[in-house]
Amino acid sequence: MTTTGIESRITMASVLAPDQLGPTVCVGEILVEIVATTVGDGFLDAQPLVGPFPSGAPAIFISQCGRLGGSAAMVGAVGDDDFGRVNVERLKRDGVDVSAISVDGEYPTGSAFVRYRQDGSRDFVYNIAKSAAARFGWTKPVSDLIGRCGHLHVMGSALSVPSARDVIDKAVYIVKARGGSISVDPNIRKELKLDQDTEERFAKLVSMADLLLPSGEELERAAGIEGEANAIQRLFQMGVKEVVLKRGADGATYFSRDGARVDVSAFSVEEVDPTGAGDCFGGAYLTCRRLGMSPEEALTYAAAAGARNVTVRGPMEGAGTRGELDAFISATERRA
Ligand code: ATP
Ligand code: MG
Repeated sequence: MTTTGIESRITMASVLAPDQLGPTVCVGEILVEIVATTVGDGFLDAQPLVGPFPSGAPAIFISQCGRLGGSAAMVGAVGDDDFGRVNVERLKRDGVDVSAISVDGEYPTGSAFVRYRQDGSRDFVYNIAKSAAARFGWTKPVSDLIGRCGHLHVMGSALSVPSARDVIDKAVYIVKARGGSISVDPNIRKELKLDQDTEERFAKLVSMADLLLPSGEELERAAGIEGEANAIQRLFQMGVKEVVLKRGADGATYFSRDGARVDVSAFSVEEVDPTGAGDCFGGAYLTCRRLGMSPEEALTYAAAAGARNVTVRGPMEGAGTRGELDAFISATERRA
């Protein structure tokens, strides 16, 4: 781990609302994932599968928050079926408040079948847009939850889902008005062109972010400018308070507005299933910060959470508790 900038600046007051203000809330798709156990091309032949695993990027994120002992809650919907129960029971067990997850009597729980190819890319069969996962809204339980929310975490990809967008649009202002904070994982590929309305919403949300958690090229995509240093500078000009850049197996970097920077190397692990690394990393970083840790300490837990999760098959099966992450940190070497 290398640290540049003055140590004392790194322990400065957090830009994120403390855990006591109220739960971290994540809004979006709740899915089961069913994973092919062999590597190959797609699903055109009968083949061995394993699952259902609880999934959906927002659900993975909030599961990691809950497991680490942060106050956490989820907004979304499942069907009245076993796939839905798998998710709700998991989140409850992780300590997540599920009062604002609705159960849709008509539509089934969302699902994704995934198979890895030889080159590491993935084939998917999705049932999301026309499932319960995309059918929720501003109900009384959601309104009650947002009224006591301390932090809202937004996935950029949720902005193209109407139900999530409607909830997020209202929630950001309510949360900010009560002194809460906002984090954004852009989660939007560099090449992806959004319609103008979504693009504007995305830029506005980025400018309101107390914490931005981009991965790789999403940094430049969110900033609208090429080059890492330029992008960081532009984001701070836009209003972002803190940026943590995820670099996969190359680790991660924290940047603050006043020029402080902390780099962490990744842990050395054997990757079994990369899905969910970014969400576990983000959920752990945010939770540790809200619980009062310094960026450096939070980054270590985050890198451990991301790395531990890729060693286990299933999108959130490897999310760790504080004790599990402490054990992982002391037992695992860092990459050079
Ligand atoms: P996702 O693929 O879930 O969208 P992401 O692109 O948002 O993830 P990554 O940078 O892939 O985010 O992963 C987040 C963090 O998890 C990394 O910064 C790193 O600390 C850890 N991590 C991810 N993959 C590995 C790996 N193979 N080995 C060790 N650590 C890893
Ligand atoms: Mg990502």
